[in-house]
Amino acid sequence: MYIVLIATECAPVAKVGGLGDVVFGLSRELEIRGNEVEIILPKYDCMRYDHIFGLCVAYHDLWVPWYGGAVHCTVWFGFVHGRKCFFIEPHSNDSFFDRRTFYGCHDDVYRFAFFSKAALEFMLKAGKRPDIVHCHDWQCGLVPVLLYEIYNRLGMGRIRVCYTIHNFRHQGVTGADILWATGLGRPEYFFRHEQLRDASNPSALNLMKGGIVYSNFVTTVSPHHAWEAKYTDQGCGLGPLLHQYSVKFDGVLNGVDYDTWNPEIDRHIPGRYTPPAIEGKYRNKEALRDRLLIRKGFKPLIAYVGRLDAQKGVHLIEHALFYCISHGAQFVLLGTSPDGDIGARFWRLKHELNDHQDCHLELAYDEELSHLVYAGADMIIVPSMYEPCGLTQMIALKYGTVPLVRAVGGLVDTVFDRDYDWRPAEQRNGYVFHHADSLAIESALVRALGLWFHYPEEFRGLMLNGMRYDYSWNNPGAKYLEIYDWIRDR
Ligand code: ADP
Repeated sequence: MYIVLIATECAPVAKVGGLGDVVFGLSRELEIRGNEVEIILPKYDCMRYDHIFGLCVAYHDLWVPWYGGAVHCTVWFGFVHGRKCFFIEPHSNDSFFDRRTFYGCHDDVYRFAFFSKAALEFMLKAGKRPDIVHCHDWQCGLVPVLLYEIYNRLGMGRIRVCYTIHNFRHQGVTGADILWATGLGRPEYFFRHEQLRDASNPSALNLMKGGIVYSNFVTTVSPHHAWEAKYTDQGCGLGPLLHQYSVKFDGVLNGVDYDTWNPEIDRHIPGRYTPPAIEGKYRNKEALRDRLLIRKGFKPLIAYVGRLDAQKGVHLIEHALFYCISHGAQFVLLGTSPDGDIGARFWRLKHELNDHQDCHLELAYDEELSHLVYAGADMIIVPSMYEPCGLTQMIALKYGTVPLVRAVGGLVDTVFDRDYDWRPAEQRNGYVFHHADSLAIESALVRALGLWFHYPEEFRGLMLNGMRYDYSWNNPGAKYLEIYDWIRDR
């Protein structure tokens, strides 16, 4: 099958969050399974160009219709760790992708609407006619709309679209002007309830809604989050629409790249280990303590790795930290905050606890250190308020690090409580709590610490249960291919 992914991120060249990992990991898996896969991305000025190999011009003079005229673009080609990527570079005064940032500009809707249009125009002009276009999040919501309303008639009618939603909170809500910019026009048509009209603001268009209405299949990044989006407020206003289209909506759990995240071969850790020789893990615990200047001794080490923002349950992270250090455990935090207030709060905490021998806060983004944290910690906490999929718990499981998670989104699909799950004991791999208050997280911590201190053999069994799970791209790759097959045959 010939598949083109259109996205605004791809790890490691342009990665802000999980989307970048998914685009890279999924495309790699699809290729391994014998498909022809290409990725189309914006050519940002702030990309990691050192990860692009053989960058060269693939298409010189691409003129992309925009408002009444056209914008001149160059399309580049390069390999990103083996993946075939095309990068769209517009030459206009808008400097859409020369902002020294991926997102967060006042005209993001225009930047990515332009990108969606340019990606299709490039495919049209370069004669690319894939079986499947797979696009992602609100930024690419217009891809299926433009394909169906404009490019179908120009010889691209056989292409089927799969649309994946990674985050329902950002939907690309905008005014009528975008219709004139992209050549869609006809506001009386696109403002209809059946088309792109936003559910809560009748005078606005919703690009994510466009993606859902016009795609042949829609996914989100875990089965439980698909349920939440339909039945709870986590759909952020799109729940009724997802009900309407439930035959073409499903959740597919993201995968983890086991070439990068695997304690057997990890280059970033001093002690490599496997389930039968798990002792190697403890070298990493010592190395982590040395690196972060916390004392050695018979104490469990609990970690948090991730963004520090309201979504991640910062009040629970803070509570867990104090609970751990006052109950004979150690705590390590690796994270940065996109939110100024939360960032300041954690910097204050860091100063307050600076001389504490049982805890360390590393307020930085450090991919290499994160490997050592996953490998060296005994447990990891993921107390998110919402979590469409979540990667940290899946990575932790692979490293034999027991996850303590809140029962939301993809965490429900991947972590099964040691004491209260219906699965057989050997399939239980962590601790789960439900409420978003301090007592709830304590209920998990008290059980986990108790097991570590008093039943070490049982704790080890729990670690091994987690390591046996396969959360690689193997299963999601097969699932996406089933979806592609299904929509291609219809
Ligand atoms: P989200 O996409 O919501 O940020 P995920 O759990 O899906 O959360 O993915 C987070 C990824 O980013 C994980 O691979 C995690 O290891 C990594 N990560 C987050 N913060 C940091 C940090 N400060 N340093 C290193 N890696 C980090």
